[in-house]
Amino acid sequence: MKIFRTPGDLQDELNLYRGKKSIGLVPTMGALHDGHLSILKHSLKQNAVTVCSIFVNPAQFNDLKDLANYPRDEDKDIQMLKNINCSITFIPDEKDIYPVKKLLDISFGDLENVMEGAFRPGHFKGVANVVKILFDIIKPDVAYFGEKDFQQLMIIKKLVQQFNMNTAIEAFPTVREKDGLAMSSRNIYLNKAERKAAPVIYQSLLLAKKMYHNKIPVGHIKMEVMKKIHSTEVLKVQYFEIVNADTLQPVEENNTIAAGRGCIAVQASDTRLIDNIALAFAE
Ligand code: AMP
Repeated sequence: MKIFRTPGDLQDELNLYRGKKSIGLVPTMGALHDGHLSILKHSLKQNAVTVCSIFVNPAQFNDLKDLANYPRDEDKDIQMLKNINCSITFIPDEKDIYPVKKLLDISFGDLENVMEGAFRPGHFKGVANVVKILFDIIKPDVAYFGEKDFQQLMIIKKLVQQFNMNTAIEAFPTVREKDGLAMSSRNIYLNKAERKAAPVIYQSLLLAKKMYHNKIPVGHIKMEVMKKIHSTEVLKVQYFEIVNADTLQPVEENNTIAAGRGCIAVQASDTRLIDNIALAFAE
């Protein structure tokens, strides 16, 4: 595995492949887990070269404490990437990603005004900027994003359209622990009681899926999900929304939309967990 720390060195390497062999990119913020590794293994199978970027992007944190506390373990990440024979790891410095401090004013209208966008002001502007910069440097043929961050995935698809980027965006299904908890770099911060309770998040999404399938009114589904999660006493729902899977706008009456998405954010002490599930009606 080759490790590059500057855009110039990485580009010299990638120029050997460009136009001849496909380049896959998996952007990450490090603190890698099996979810990241599954995406990387998939990209390694599909592409001649796979780049894993590791960059904790300050621009996407609206809370400085959250940024300071974000888990970082470069040596462990590198070892994990070596173990799966990742082709290239790119670990840039902030000054190389943001040579100019000012962010581009990229916006996504209604897509960014709900859920994560509403609770984390500026978050998607930061995400869009870093992804655009990484795409400009790497020019991947395919870039992979997890469905776990469903709203982010939709925003990135829009970004690529907005800037006519020549990169295909591929969604990767959420990878879960055996008990259903979506894998996340933040899970290590859960205390014992919170970790024990956390599988209820996915269980409540499964319940929502079943209810939606059976055309139970959206308001009732939301109430049941809240009740189930709050029964743990250590988890607090920040939002649970049933949205149109394409527009991310809330679904009010569930007989109006065939493809929905249930999206949830839960607070466990200082740790914020998100998850989501596809919803569909019984025909
Ligand atoms: P992060 O390092 O958390 O920014 O995540 C990097 C990429 O991995 C993003 O596209 C995430 O959506 C994806 N990802 C993170 N956790 C999971 C998971 N449990 N399953 C699938 N993809 C994930």
